[in-house]
Amino acid sequence: HPAFDVHAVRRDFPILAELVNGRPLIWLDNAATTQKPQAVLDRLMHFYSHENSNIHRAAHELAARATDAYEHARNTVAKFIGAGSAEEIVFVRGTTEAINLVAKAWGPANISAGDEIVISHLEHHANIVPWQMLCEQTGAVLKVIPVDEDGQVLLAEYTKLLSSRTKLVSVTHVSNALGTVVPIEQIIELGHRAGATVMIDAAQSVPHVPIDVSLLGADFLVFSGHKIFGPTGIGVLYGRKEVLADMPPWEGGGNMIADVTLERSVFQPPPGRFEAGTGNIADAVGLGAALEYVQRIGLPNIAAYEHSLVEHATECLRAIPGLRLVGTAAEKASVVSFVLDGYEPVEVGTALNEDGIAVRSGHHCAQPILRRFGLEATVRPSFAFYNTHDEVDALVTAVSRLSARKHNR
Ligand code: PMP
Repeated sequence: HPAFDVHAVRRDFPILAELVNGRPLIWLDNAATTQKPQAVLDRLMHFYSHENSNIHRAAHELAARATDAYEHARNTVAKFIGAGSAEEIVFVRGTTEAINLVAKAWGPANISAGDEIVISHLEHHANIVPWQMLCEQTGAVLKVIPVDEDGQVLLAEYTKLLSSRTKLVSVTHVSNALGTVVPIEQIIELGHRAGATVMIDAAQSVPHVPIDVSLLGADFLVFSGHKIFGPTGIGVLYGRKEVLADMPPWEGGGNMIADVTLERSVFQPPPGRFEAGTGNIADAVGLGAALEYVQRIGLPNIAAYEHSLVEHATECLRAIPGLRLVGTAAEKASVVSFVLDGYEPVEVGTALNEDGIAVRSGHHCAQPILRRFGLEATVRPSFAFYNTHDEVDALVTAVSRLSARKHNR
């Protein structure tokens, strides 16, 4: 039994009352994006109804309200991930932009020919492509931590990759394709011991696992608002104070400067230095409301409940004839990935949609890890705290029916 009332929680999410093909929507595509509680929708409406302005506090009343709302959201983010101060929080468009910011601003200032950047085989394309581009630009070399047959990173192999040449380690906390929870405590500690800067892609973990960046000691940690019940178009780059202080800006423009002459500019200290132009003010405020909502339910409660959903789904799906689970590590968060004999993953996704069940089928922007298992695509149900065991059962029933068509002739 969850420590919260799932049915009450579901009423907080208006979209969960939608019908799809005449059936109640079963939203099992939470790893792609999450649904939004009324508290977030209300907060956006309130912002545009009562607070909307650009953020320049001194100008007038609404500017002060908008600035306060925006900075309150920054504080909420800082507290949510255990940052030492709000100055360590940079608002960006999402995980992708956060990683690109680090690659473009921190990268050239800290990486040169012959240096090494370490990622894992589990990474989302967003944590692969920017590093390939940086390596191309600087002559650095990309190294990849291999995974075992269960989809867990091999720490012994990681240790062997580390050396004085390692300048950056950038690894996902939870795999979006398989759900593997990576032991980032050890990844960070070993990386630091080798003298590297360490970045964590927390896009898939922040909604599911309590995170404390101060305890972890990560140098950078990034995530997307839309995957944690907030709006699209807003995300977070956490940077440790000392690291951000030394980092040059990436984009130039308004807001990020202290003084501009036609000859030269003096930049703001962080985080302003990294927020050129008018930011996504309303959606930052909406993200703050989302994090406050999650805090009210409690991440430890959420983690425990989702664990029971994943266990139940894994157990039931595993028993279906012709179904192969991909990524069977002991530590998993909220994602199950599988293929079904006789069907393309997209055919399974299409069939499930007829029952109102939304799952992702495809390569999940993580082609290297799927190919590691000889696959181009999987079916990926992914869970949030508003999902129920009954919804998992509906998924299992629908997949079983597909299996029976090919296996019990
Ligand atoms: N990293 C991981 C692990 C992800 O799951 C995602 C989103 N699927 C991203 C990065 C990219 O996030 P966004 O598209 O929100 O920038």
